[in-house]
Amino acid sequence: MRDDNCIFCKIIAGEIPSRTIYEDEDFKVILDANPASKGHALILPKEHFANIYEISEEMLAKAAALAKKLASHMTSVLDCDGLNLLQNNGEVAGQTVFHFHLHLIPRYTGMKNKDLLNWTHEEFTAEEQDEICQKLKSC
Ligand code: 5GP
Ligand code: ZN
Repeated sequence: MRDDNCIFCKIIAGEIPSRTIYEDEDFKVILDANPASKGHALILPKEHFANIYEISEEMLAKAAALAKKLASHMTSVLDCDGLNLLQNNGEVAGQTVFHFHLHLIPRYTGMKNKDLLNWTHEEFTAEEQDEICQKLKSC
């Protein structure tokens, strides 16, 4: 339910201050303390799940529905030109707080951090792509 060593659990409990933009029985949505852009927000489920592997399907579906609602609201209020949803799982994927969270990152034409999510392409042969595709089809 709660992890006493988790900073987001402490924020949810009100033990650490945050700028809250939305709250209901399942979620708290706060402004990121180190924003990538104006209005960068984090959807936090109130229950402690470390990552995508642990969160329940029900809570994930609710988080997605809330993301949709907030994306429209933020775009209209902030007058941004686009928005990224980002969700990191595991240190290698860039996760630094191990309490599931969904980033909402408003994007503005000409913004400072325009290369925020840019990556270079990796090369795979057609055979490798076929093999990867075959493996992933088993879901
Ligand atoms: P991650 O890298 O795990 O996907 O994202 C963690 C995010 O949480 C980072 O963008 C970081 O700036 C934000 N963050 C870490 N500690 C705090 C905090 O105490 N308060 C708030 N509002 N954001 C935090
Ligand atoms: Zn937590």
